[in-house]
Amino acid sequence: MTVETGPVSSQLLELQIIDQQIRAIQDRVESFQGQLEAVEEPAMQLAEEVAATETRVRDLKLEERRLRLAAEDKRLRVQRLEERLNLVKTVREEAAVQAELGLLRRALDQEEHEVISLLDQIGRLEERLDDQRAGMEEARSAVVPKKEEIRAKQEAIRTEAAELELRRGLFAEGIDRRYLAVYEGLAKGGRKVAVAAMTDDGACGACFSLIPLQLQNEIRSTGRLVSCEACGVIVTAPPDVVPDELPEPANKT
Ligand SMILES: [Zn+2]
Repeated sequence: MTVETGPVSSQLLELQIIDQQIRAIQDRVESFQGQLEAVEEPAMQLAEEVAATETRVRDLKLEERRLRLAAEDKRLRVQRLEERLNLVKTVREEAAVQAELGLLRRALDQEEHEVISLLDQIGRLEERLDDQRAGMEEARSAVVPKKEEIRAKQEAIRTEAAELELRRGLFAEGIDRRYLAVYEGLAKGGRKVAVAAMTDDGACGACFSLIPLQLQNEIRSTGRLVSCEACGVIVTAPPDVVPDELPEPANKT
């Protein structure tokens, strides 16, 4: 592609700047998506903590109930043994009942201690649960306004993007279609740079490969556009050499 052109080089360079701005704005719109997800995070984490504490409290309550029933059962047995003690007829029989009673009372004592310790743990966990639930509610109530704030910013940026895309469309309409097609082809291929000005020392402004001397001269003198042989981008004259006075292409739309 070595067709003589007028201001098409600066048009393409400007189009590229607009496209870069559009990409930057689209990145910003996307970054808000991540922010929206991050806003949920603290409340979700606190909800997990609440659920874990609830499970622990439930388990401890079951354990406490089991021990309490076991203790009640032992208390009844102690009572029956004490009644039997009043009815014993021999010293040997009394000694046997006393021994059993001693064992049973120690076991009962042990269980009662455990019940008290469990009730204490449950009480402290329930207090923690209250705090955790309050924290979770607070975090949850902050989610909606934060999301609205982020969405409002996102919406403003979307509007900005739409305006820019509109401007880009109008601007592109003014560019010679042949060059525009080459530019679009390069840009759609995923390149960040589709058009670059030649450097002062005659290299491609994108990949810095040296451009053949004869072509360099033509680029400088006529403002001709060329494809870089190394990387394929459209190479224009250096910005200060872009010859505004050159005639525009015949088929310019
Ligand atoms: Zn190149």
